[in-house]
Amino acid sequence: MVGGGPAGSTCARVLQNAGWNVLVIDRARFPRDKVCAGWVTPGVFRLLDLDPDEYRATGLTIQPITGFRTSILGSPSIETRYFRPVSYAIRRCEFDNFLLVRSKARVLEETPLASLERRGDTWIANHHIEARIVIGAGGHFCPVARQMRGEHDLVQAVVAREAEFRVEDDECEVDGEVPELFFCRDLEGYAWCVRKGGHLNIGIGRRDKSHFNDHVENFIRFLERTRRARRASLVRWHGHAYLASGTGPRPLTGDGLMVVGDAAGLAYPESGEGIRPAVESGRLAAETLVAGGGRIGRDDLQPYEAELRRRYPPAPRTPAALTGAVKALGRGLMRSPAFTRHVLIDRWFLRA
Ligand SMILES: Cc1cc2nc3c(=O)[nH]c(=O)nc-3n(C[C@H](O)[C@H](O)[C@H](O)COP(=O)(O)OP(=O)(O)OC[C@H]3O[C@@H](n4cnc5c(N)ncnc54)[C@H](O)[C@@H]3O)c2cc1C
Repeated sequence: MVGGGPAGSTCARVLQNAGWNVLVIDRARFPRDKVCAGWVTPGVFRLLDLDPDEYRATGLTIQPITGFRTSILGSPSIETRYFRPVSYAIRRCEFDNFLLVRSKARVLEETPLASLERRGDTWIANHHIEARIVIGAGGHFCPVARQMRGEHDLVQAVVAREAEFRVEDDECEVDGEVPELFFCRDLEGYAWCVRKGGHLNIGIGRRDKSHFNDHVENFIRFLERTRRARRASLVRWHGHAYLASGTGPRPLTGDGLMVVGDAAGLAYPESGEGIRPAVESGRLAAETLVAGGGRIGRDDLQPYEAELRRRYPPAPRTPAALTGAVKALGRGLMRSPAFTRHVLIDRWFLRA
């Protein structure tokens, strides 16, 4: 397994439980951070066979979310409340480490994949690690995915920047139970404030890369002006990228090769939620291997590819001529509490 994030650790755990001999290599040392807001839907816990209370009992941060505050950045917001937790906020440095340890797989940390060669029916990684099957779970820049598709990737990624830092109660007015989402006026992306215990996560992601720094600067000024994050310009921001599912045909399998999670480009296009697809694909890949009884040829791995393409179909395209009108309509609809609850939050973000 190349990569020990949620996709890799989930896949490793299912294989390990089925009696496979799994080795995870990761270039990082865990606990490591991952650029991410850390918002997880209940489906993630179901797919992980993990009770949120069991996770909380370990002493790790888990913030129940019972509502969302949404707006076009700078305009009045709408609050959508529920009577139960509809999501959770976790810290990726804790969550990913917990999942990796829980997988019980052998882990080689600080070991980037530097080379991958085929000898007969065996893969040789870094000139000395032998494996019959290699699973690429190395995130957006996964070297296994790159080897499978070649250097050229014409698919446009979502670009994002994020910061997570400690806050005191008197310097942050964001309510942990009600994260805030601020949509860009052109609806090409959104920014967020997610509070989790003593930490605040702020960030912005956009499909359109142009003038990205201006959007980040504008958001930072807004956070400081509205006292949501008074030190937003002083904290360290990290950049990253991800692919929304259905944005292009990337190979998902090869002879003795599979890719899962961000390496396969699976984040949900409307919300950018990628942890659930990572866990789901990691699990599906492992279940395909177990069901195949150890057969790992390209044809044997097809059920994984077919099922993943069925669950993550191509995103519908908006005709260019309609785009302006559709966006104006979208901005109008976002002032409607009913649209916000039933479509934006329930359907697009919670996929209820
Ligand atoms: C700014 C931002 C905010 C986001 N917010 C959310 C959110 O709130 N909720 C949500 O569900 N999703 C969110 N996502 C998406 C989510 O973070 C990803 O979809 C998710 O982390 C994918 O998991 P993964 O296991 O596929 O990859 P990753 O979590 O990226 O794990 C990949 C692992 O591979 C390792 N690796 C990389 N290269 C190599 C190499 N060469 N050799 C060995 N190891 C390697 C890395 O060290 C890492 O540990 C966000 C993404 C961004 C960019």
